[in-house]
Amino acid sequence: NQKLLEIKNLTIHYITDEGTVHAVENMSIEIGKGETLGLVGETGAGKTTTALGIMQLVPNPPGKIIGGEIIYEGENLLGKSPAELRKIRGNNISMIFQDPMTSLNPVMTVGEQVAEVIKLHQKVSAAVAMIKAQDMLETVGIPEERHKEYPHQFSGGMRQRVVIAIALACNPNLLIADEPTTALDVTIQAQVLNLMKSLKEEFQTSMIMITHDLGIVAEICDKVAIMYAGNVVEYTDKVALFTNPKHPYTIGLFNSIPNIEDDVEKLKPIQGLMPDPTNLPSGCPFHPRCPKAINVCSKKLPKPIEIAKDHFVSCILYSDR
Ligand code: SF4
Repeated sequence: NQKLLEIKNLTIHYITDEGTVHAVENMSIEIGKGETLGLVGETGAGKTTTALGIMQLVPNPPGKIIGGEIIYEGENLLGKSPAELRKIRGNNISMIFQDPMTSLNPVMTVGEQVAEVIKLHQKVSAAVAMIKAQDMLETVGIPEERHKEYPHQFSGGMRQRVVIAIALACNPNLLIADEPTTALDVTIQAQVLNLMKSLKEEFQTSMIMITHDLGIVAEICDKVAIMYAGNVVEYTDKVALFTNPKHPYTIGLFNSIPNIEDDVEKLKPIQGLMPDPTNLPSGCPFHPRCPKAINVCSKKLPKPIEIAKDHFVSCILYSDR
C-alpha cells in the first residue's frame, strides 16, 4: 500500500504555568492511500493534539512542536511556509470536529456554504459550484428542499452531514475526523458512521478516525494506534488488535467494554485515573495502573517492539529488558 502520510518521532508539548504537558511523545505512525487509521485513547491521551499537529494548528503558545517529521506525499510539512500550509490544508487535508456548529457559518444557507468551498477549490463559476454543492449534499443524505436552510434549522446529525459534505467538497486525500459522532444520539451516531464508511469506499479517501470507542474502530478502521498519556502504546492492524491485543492498557480497554453476554459484575474497568499530564509517572506512564507492572516499569520508558509483522507494543514485558 502506497504511503500517504508518515509521522516520525513527532513530539508536541504545551508549556504552561503549571508545567510542561507532554501531549505527544515520539509518535511514529503511517497511513496508506485509502486506509483508515483509528487513533484511540481516553481524553487527554494526545489524540486531538496529534491531529492539530498534522494540520499544524497547534495553538502556539502554549503549544510547540518540539521535534519529528510529518511527511505528506514525500514532503515534510514541518518546513513549509504558512501560505504553503494553507494550500495543503484546503486542498489535501480536511478535518471534521466533534461539534458541527463550530465549523458552520450561522448566517449562510448550507447550500451556499458547500458551494463556497467548491468555488474556492475547484475554480468554477458560482452556478456550477451550486450544482456540485447540491449533488454533494444529496450524497450525504440532505434532500434538495433543505439546501436553502440555515444550520440552526438542522438537527445535530444533519449538521454533521453538512460538515462532512463541506470536508469532502475539497476532494481531500486525507480526512481527519475528531470524534465526529460523540455529540450525537446513538442511533444518529450509527447513521453518520455508516455514511462515512460508504463515502470512504466511494471517494477512496484516507482517514484518521479519532475516537475513544473501540466499536467505531471495529466498524470503520483498517489499523489502530492506541495512545496513553501522549505515547502510542500499541500499533497494528485492526484484526491483530482485536484478536491478539498485547499491551496491558489495550487489554484493559477491551475488558472494560460492556458485553451483553457477560454479567455486569464481570466488567473490569481499568483501575486508577489518567495521570496528571504535567507530572507524568517515571518510566512507563501506565505503571501506576498496570496489573502486570514489575519493578523496572517505574524506571525505564519502554520503546516500541515489533512483536509480529507490523504489530508494535511499547511494554517492557515484550523486550529483553
Ligand atoms: Fe505495564 Fe510495565 Fe508494560 Fe508499562 S511496561 S505496560 S507498567 S508491564
